[in-house]
Amino acid sequence: MERTVPLNLRKTRRLVVKVGSALLVENGEARAEWLATLAHDLADLRSGGTEIIVVSSGAIALGAAKLGLARGGRGSLADAQAAASVGQVELARLWSDKLRRHDITAAQMLVTLGDLEDRRRYLNASATLQRLVETGAIPVVNENDSVATEEIRFGDNDRLAARVAQAAGADTVILLSDVDGLYDRDPGEEDARLVERIEGVTPEIIAMAGPESSSGIGSGGMLAKLQAARIAERAGITLVIANGTGPSPLTRYCDTAIGTVFLPQADASARKAWLAGRLAPAGVLTVDPGCATALANGASLLAAGLIEVAGEFGRGDLVAIHGPKGERLGQGLVEYGAAECRTIIGLREDEQEARLGYAPRAAVVHRDHMVRE
Ligand code: GLU
Repeated sequence: MERTVPLNLRKTRRLVVKVGSALLVENGEARAEWLATLAHDLADLRSGGTEIIVVSSGAIALGAAKLGLARGGRGSLADAQAAASVGQVELARLWSDKLRRHDITAAQMLVTLGDLEDRRRYLNASATLQRLVETGAIPVVNENDSVATEEIRFGDNDRLAARVAQAAGADTVILLSDVDGLYDRDPGEEDARLVERIEGVTPEIIAMAGPESSSGIGSGGMLAKLQAARIAERAGITLVIANGTGPSPLTRYCDTAIGTVFLPQADASARKAWLAGRLAPAGVLTVDPGCATALANGASLLAAGLIEVAGEFGRGDLVAIHGPKGERLGQGLVEYGAAECRTIIGLREDEQEARLGYAPRAAVVHRDHMVRE
């Protein structure tokens, strides 16, 4: 059979690595030695030029053990929230310790579903991730379990990882778990076969996940992983499920390519496609010819190039971008409300602060949040 290894982690530009609870925690204790091998892998990939973002579970499992809560802290929402707030302290310390050995600074980011679904907050999370990665730190993201209520929780870090990848403009996500990948039937059955490559998560693929399969420590399971794969594939992101149980799991994956790869079902620009969805633009930004050319070349929209601001909109709203003759150039999420846009219209960056009364943002519409016509 053709061995398809479409994915070389070493060639990815920006990678999200999701680490499941079952890998990080065993009998209530952190698997610190294993984590050290993963940190080594991350440092190695990073020195090869791959930018890294970690999504780490394990707070609930660690905290439940400390607090002596039954059912791994998952007996009730209140238990899980209390366990998470205790465990998150230890989780952050673990990551920080292990990464520091490679001279890497760990950054903690706790997010809720709302932070990634609401467009204003999405912009903030996205800008923070971007900036952290630029500084060379490795963001370690988890769900803000101690405050998120049932209705506004992801509940599993698999989908969270896919959303974080989208917000961070990552090209690849690897979900490290305690299974090798997706099997075409119950992996317990003798002739079960690991599916190496999936082009589009169809209902038939979902059916392969079978009843919830999970080690019981985390809340992931195969179904959550397939949901994550759907988010990723539509956003133009490659997603891999691989077994991370053994030491140096990323090196192992690079060497063996054992796992399931979900190929993107849209090109990378579709990462921003939700911008272009059914939302009606709340306003129009008209730009000068120089800015129109810069936008066509992939730049962000800067205030200096703005010549007109029409409509009433708030930060995070979708706005249309027009050229000087009224031709439509694209649309994107605007970083300022309409009044602020009018305040800084035509101004260079160094002139903006005095008018705004605070340090200006990097752009009026950042290129990561813009789709061109
Ligand atoms: N956020 C949870 C934790 O840190 C994990 C969620 C999951 O199991 O995917 O414990």
